[in-house]
Amino acid sequence: MQLINEINKGVRGLAETLGFIFNPLLLSIKGENSQLLVFYFHGLYQSIVQRDLNQIDPQKNMTVNQFYDFVNYFLNRNYTFIRPEDLLAGLDTRKRYAMITFDDGYYNNMLALPILEKFNIPAVFFVTADNVRENKAFWWDVIYKNRTKQGVSGLQIQNEQEMLKSSKHDYISDYILKNFGEGASIPWSDVDRPLTETEVKILSEHPHAVVGNHTFHHALLPNYTKDEIEVEILSANKYIADLTGITPSSIAFPNGYYNKIVLDVVREAGFRVAFSAVPGKNKLPIESNELLCIKRFIANNNNIKNYGSFFRLGYTPGSLYNRIKEILFPGRMNEFPTGVTSK
Ligand SMILES: [Zn+2]
Repeated sequence: MQLINEINKGVRGLAETLGFIFNPLLLSIKGENSQLLVFYFHGLYQSIVQRDLNQIDPQKNMTVNQFYDFVNYFLNRNYTFIRPEDLLAGLDTRKRYAMITFDDGYYNNMLALPILEKFNIPAVFFVTADNVRENKAFWWDVIYKNRTKQGVSGLQIQNEQEMLKSSKHDYISDYILKNFGEGASIPWSDVDRPLTETEVKILSEHPHAVVGNHTFHHALLPNYTKDEIEVEILSANKYIADLTGITPSSIAFPNGYYNKIVLDVVREAGFRVAFSAVPGKNKLPIESNELLCIKRFIANNNNIKNYGSFFRLGYTPGSLYNRIKEILFPGRMNEFPTGVTSK
């Protein structure tokens, strides 16, 4: 096992190091047309100072400047940023596309608007109805900020959050109440608060923004029955439609979690486009069944000049590492730790 761990560490390090050198070469041979890269973001920080307040779970959140660099990087490499409905019209298979999505509905996402305007590109904002309606901080942030204040380690915080991910929203609400008391869900500032109803309306009217469905209670859908999944998705659409006058036609599954029942509900409800959190590129043309589980990369807040080439090849450093393991040690994947953690 010791040896395997050493090999594991070695191959992973190698994947990252060599990737930075060889990815551009590979890209020049393989090309990168005929693909769509979709990225999901959570919070944006005005500056590092806001990040260091520890009011929201980091989740690879970016500063506004990093977001600017991110957009600029892909535009300079001839990517066209699109919105979900462009997928239905069909994309030019000789071109390369990217899409920006924000999950959850943080107020701080409004910081993206001047950048979208400057570059004349769209983005999708998947908002959680209940948090907006009740002005409730997100449960993972309530845990993160309180535990951080208590001096609990990052790993322990992560374990506590993970433990709740097999539960439904009412159980999670009870847990938050019992552990952090009445008022725990009141946001601490503009850093951790959700959008207000007025702000969601402003977003929906913004020429560069699309508002999408992220369920009513940020429901981790495979934990629910089919009827409950329907309620979560349809009530969120109704809420947003009543608020903005526009019924969302796309949905991002909270935490990217879905199963066959979820896909059935989404299809029956009339959604044409749905987003998972499976990392990878979407090859063009995208089949209609693939439109209901579009792959997305979590945006990486490290230097985009280093990480961009991984995405353009269709990998993260972690998934490239897994691919190399498959090639080097076929059939022995289960002997290795997975090498990536996702939230
Ligand atoms: Zn979410």
